[in-house]
Amino acid sequence: MRVAEAIRAAALRLAAMSDTARLDAEVLMAHLLGASRSDLLLRRMADPCPPGYAALVERREAHEPVAYITGTQDFYGLPFAVSPAVLIPRGDSEVLVEHALAARPDARRVLDCGTGSGALLLAVLAHLPGAAGVGIDRSEAALTMARANAEQLGLAARADFRPADWDAPGWSAELGRFDLILANPPYVEDHAALDPSVRAHEPAGALFAGPEGLDAYHALIPQLPALLSPEGTALVEIGASQADAVSAIANHAGFSVRVHPDLAGRDRVLELKFLLGKAGASA
Ligand code: GLN
Repeated sequence: MRVAEAIRAAALRLAAMSDTARLDAEVLMAHLLGASRSDLLLRRMADPCPPGYAALVERREAHEPVAYITGTQDFYGLPFAVSPAVLIPRGDSEVLVEHALAARPDARRVLDCGTGSGALLLAVLAHLPGAAGVGIDRSEAALTMARANAEQLGLAARADFRPADWDAPGWSAELGRFDLILANPPYVEDHAALDPSVRAHEPAGALFAGPEGLDAYHALIPQLPALLSPEGTALVEIGASQADAVSAIANHAGFSVRVHPDLAGRDRVLELKFLLGKAGASA
């Protein structure tokens, strides 16, 4: 069987469980061939189908995310290594990076709370050559992945990945203040109906945050005033129905809030700044 035919057959099978069946089939084939997707489509379609393709398609059919099968996911134009230890970076989170870069193009110090693969912090640092950052996570496996990504992207000298848990008292005592704080914390309701590709494969600790998905915001946001410089900005990713609830938490902590939509027009990112006259109030 030739590559073109194998992809066609795989896409038909995957259509039963994936909204992106054809893309999945192509990405898995490109991975197996060690080719880029464009190289696959332009030059490799008449090659004989390599052995092992059926096994990869079967894994996807069992709901394993493509990014975990290939071990990589592009985010903000950069390749990130991923494993089941970290959430797969989403296109919707690229909106957070855009707003961070727009809000503080002059940022010198950047903090990423719950950094996972390091995607948010490293994407921002890649575009701010004068900035250095700290990424914290409670998962050692995630930190190992984030450090490997920093190394791979040539950003290791400016990215410090440290174990820390914002639920543990004193976790931030030594960190100082930051011009930009980024966070994509867990925000899914514990009992939410999730795609099996997500629920069965992505790390629960990066997804779930109590019955309303608000636990991480309640824990983290009141701690941000002590970490943000007076002119600083915090960008926090939220679930599409959480803008009002998380804005209320942020207002209570002394922040003004702007809500930004994701690519599908759903509420996705809150931009937080100190309300006038409140800067450093809880320092
Ligand atoms: N956006 C992810 C999802 O809907 C959730 C990410 C998170 O909880 N931080 O699957």
